[in-house]
Amino acid sequence: MSDWLEMDKKYFMQTIVRHPLTLVRGEGLRVWDDTGKEYLDCVGGLAVNCLGHCHPVVVNALREQAGTLMQVSLWYYNKPMLRLAELLVQNSCMDRVFICNSGLEANEGAIKLARRYGALNLNGAYEIITTNMSFHGRSLALTAATGQEKMHKPFEPLPAGFINVENNSIAAIKAATTEKTCAVMLEPIQAEGGVNVPIDGFLKQVREWCDEKGILLIFDEVQTGVGRLGTLFGYQLYNVEPDIMSLAKGLGGGIPIGAVLAKENAAVFTLGDHNATFGGNPTTSATAYATLKYVIENDIPGNARKVGQYLKQGLQDLKSKYGFVTDVRGEGLLLAMEFDKDISANVVDGCIENGMLINKLKTNAIRFIPPLVMTTEEADEALGILDKVLAEMS
Ligand SMILES: *Cc1c(COP(=O)(O)O)cnc(C)c1O
Repeated sequence: MSDWLEMDKKYFMQTIVRHPLTLVRGEGLRVWDDTGKEYLDCVGGLAVNCLGHCHPVVVNALREQAGTLMQVSLWYYNKPMLRLAELLVQNSCMDRVFICNSGLEANEGAIKLARRYGALNLNGAYEIITTNMSFHGRSLALTAATGQEKMHKPFEPLPAGFINVENNSIAAIKAATTEKTCAVMLEPIQAEGGVNVPIDGFLKQVREWCDEKGILLIFDEVQTGVGRLGTLFGYQLYNVEPDIMSLAKGLGGGIPIGAVLAKENAAVFTLGDHNATFGGNPTTSATAYATLKYVIENDIPGNARKVGQYLKQGLQDLKSKYGFVTDVRGEGLLLAMEFDKDISANVVDGCIENGMLINKLKTNAIRFIPPLVMTTEEADEALGILDKVLAEMS
C-alpha cells in the first residue's frame, strides 16, 4: 500500500493532502481500498456519483457509447449531445445548452455569456458581482469570482471585473451595482465555502434587483444541481429562476462533464464566441443523458429530500447529545455539522478508521455529500459511525 503513497509524493504535484488510503473498487455507497477494507462513502466522488458507484445505468451507457463512437469533434452533429441538451431544456426553465467538461468550464461559459450580454445590451457592462465565501472554480477568472481572499493572493494579478461582496446581503449587492455591472453570480447554497444556506428571501430579492436593473442572474449549480438539494435543480427549491445556470458534478454520474444553460434572451453567443474540443463529446453526453434520465424517471431528487431530512434529523439528535456540536445545516443531501473546536480532521480520521468516508469542510466542520440514492438504512449506519467517533471526542 505504501508504494502508492510514495509514488504520489514522487510524481504528483503536491496540491492536496490526501488521506492515506488507495481506493480500488466501488459499488453503490460502498468503496474498498487496496487492503480490502470497506467504507460507507458519504463523499460520493465529491458530490459527483449521484447514483452511487458503478451504477449499471451509468456504466452501460458509457460502455455502449465508448464502443460505438467515442469522439467526433464539434464540427459534426452527434445524437447523445442533442438528446442531453433536449432533456436538460425539457426539465428546466432554460432554453439553450452548451455542453463542456467540468464545473470550471461551465462557469467560464456563464461568465463569457454574461459579458457578451453586457457588450450587446448594457453598453459594454462587464462586472460580475459575487459573494464572500463563494466557490466558483480554479481558473484565473473564477479564482477572482470566488469570494475567498486566501485563494486570490498566490495568483495575483487576477483578471478584473469581479466584485466580491458580503454574502446574504441584498444591500451589499445593491451598493456594488453600477452601470458597469452585467450580472450577479451566486450558488443557491454556498457549498465549498461552508454549506451556507441563504437567509430567507435573499435569492428572491436578488432576482428582483436584477430585474429592476436589467442585469443577469447566474446560478452556479455545479454542486446544487441534479437533485442534490432534493429538487432537480437548486433554483426550484427557492422558487427563483436564474437567467444562466451552470451544471457539472452530478450531471454525468461520475464522468467529467459540465453544461451551461441559458434562457433565450441570455443565450447571446453567436458563431465563434465559444467552443471546446470535447464539448458535446458523445461518450460523456450519452453517460450524462442516461444518468439524468434515470434521476428524473426515478425521482432521485425525492429520495435525496426524504433521506436528507432523515439524515439531518439524525445529525440534529447528535447535536443534542454532544455539546460541542454547534450547528447542523443544509438541504437535501448537502449537509454540514459544525463543532465549537477544530476537531474535524480527527472526526474524519475516526470515521475512516470506522469504515466511513466523510469530507472535512473546514477545520471545525464536516460535510455530507453522499450519493443521492442513499437509503435510510445507510443513513442510520452513517449516523452510528459518527456517534461512535463523536463519543471518542468528548
Ligand atoms: C466544484 C465546484 C466548481 C468547480 O467545478 P470543477 O469541476 O472542479 O471545475 C464550481 N462551482 C461549484 C459551486 C462547485 O461546487
